[in-house]
Amino acid sequence: MHRRGLWALLLCAAAAAQSNQPPAIPPALESITAARLRGHVSFLASDLLEGRDSPSRGLDIAAEYIASQFRALDLEPLGDNGYFQTIHWEVLDSAPTGITLTLDGAPVDPKFFRVTAGGSIDAEGTIANLAPGETEGRIVRLESAKPSTIADAIRILRNAPPAVVLIPDEHDTLRKAGVFNPRALITPGGPPRGKYVYVILTGPAAALAASAATARFHMPPALITPARLWNVAALLRGSDPALGAAAILLSAHYDHEGVRPDNAADPILNGANDDASGTAVLLEAARALASLPERPKRSILFLAFVGEEKGMLGSKHYVKNPLWPLDRTAANLNFEMFGRTEEGEYTRPGQMTITGSGFSTVTDAVRQATADLGAVYFVNKQGNEEFFSRSDNLPFALQGIPAHTLTPGFSFADYHAPGDEWQKLDYANMQLAARIATLAALRLANSPDEPSWNLNEPSVQRYAERQAARRKATPGSPAPEATQPPHQPPLHP
Ligand SMILES: [Zn+2]
Repeated sequence: MHRRGLWALLLCAAAAAQSNQPPAIPPALESITAARLRGHVSFLASDLLEGRDSPSRGLDIAAEYIASQFRALDLEPLGDNGYFQTIHWEVLDSAPTGITLTLDGAPVDPKFFRVTAGGSIDAEGTIANLAPGETEGRIVRLESAKPSTIADAIRILRNAPPAVVLIPDEHDTLRKAGVFNPRALITPGGPPRGKYVYVILTGPAAALAASAATARFHMPPALITPARLWNVAALLRGSDPALGAAAILLSAHYDHEGVRPDNAADPILNGANDDASGTAVLLEAARALASLPERPKRSILFLAFVGEEKGMLGSKHYVKNPLWPLDRTAANLNFEMFGRTEEGEYTRPGQMTITGSGFSTVTDAVRQATADLGAVYFVNKQGNEEFFSRSDNLPFALQGIPAHTLTPGFSFADYHAPGDEWQKLDYANMQLAARIATLAALRLANSPDEPSWNLNEPSVQRYAERQAARRKATPGSPAPEATQPPHQPPLHP
């Protein structure tokens, strides 16, 4: 071996020895406390905000709260109206009366069926079974109300939309599970809503629906009203002249499922763990990162999304209307369900994971931060891939951005149920989890290496290809100029 080779080897060994030292934990992380997190969650998940349905007054109050926290930190507003990214959608409500259903010529009592969002439907004829090629424009029947049956049905029905889908559900399990709604949020360019409807039959009508040969269905036109919603967006500009043009995106959804009026005992779905907890972590990460003596090298973008529960609508809107260039968005850490720890293997204190674990180098940053703060990194073998496509990280991954959802746990007893209340969260563990998330974000922001997809993982090919294609198409658009922040947006008349 020649001398230069030996020198290189010695230098490498020295660097390796140095990197074995645990990296410093910035004291700013210690300001993220259980009490602060509890403060945010208890407000966002209070009954007064009525479950933060998209759209609703409670949702807007939550958005104002998030904006006020960003304002207090003097973060740069990125929206069209201060911190708000204004979104114009429409709400489709089924007509409250005048819907009629007849089975084998006999009218069904309206108290034994309910209908999903839609309108202007008239259909009549023999009831078809669910089979490819036999559903278009017809009245179709599903054999059971099991979610797996419905998921299979949706795949067939998408290609040949029927007029009506009858679902016998004797014990009203779908309503209790909160599946299907007489109201829908309509987004321009989104999938057509209300083209066909599901009719769920309960009690004695379920047996009738299961055996009937013919049906007739009438539904008056739907009511359509304009809706204005907000994503909330703020920026902490990076200190490094070169790296600062790229941003690490931290996100959480602040909406939930609103009110279920037929659940008289407790009609409000507070969504404390899902996802007031993630929103609280976003706010605390923002506060801790903004209070560092030296700003992180890369910029950090903070986004609170609406409409996640309606199908990731807020994040999908954002990737079509980005406030910071997508090709300058280096990674996304999305925060979900940070507060509950009591369910066992995948939901217990002292641990952390990301969905799509192993898909990108973000995994290493989170794994390292988890270890450095004394927690255990775990992988949910069953859900790792499935959960990756079930939250707001997905629209960013589909744009080629390494994007994951961080969570210390998965299932919990009150998922999408009225019992998801702020008093039930494990705030001591949430403090630990929030510090891990913030430390991982900070290290990604300061790393000389840009996060990248792990090409050895077959599942990531389509995301990595998208990233490569976009890099080829746009060799790097300029970072937006610093705005003179209108901390007080113009008053509305
Ligand atoms: Zn959620």
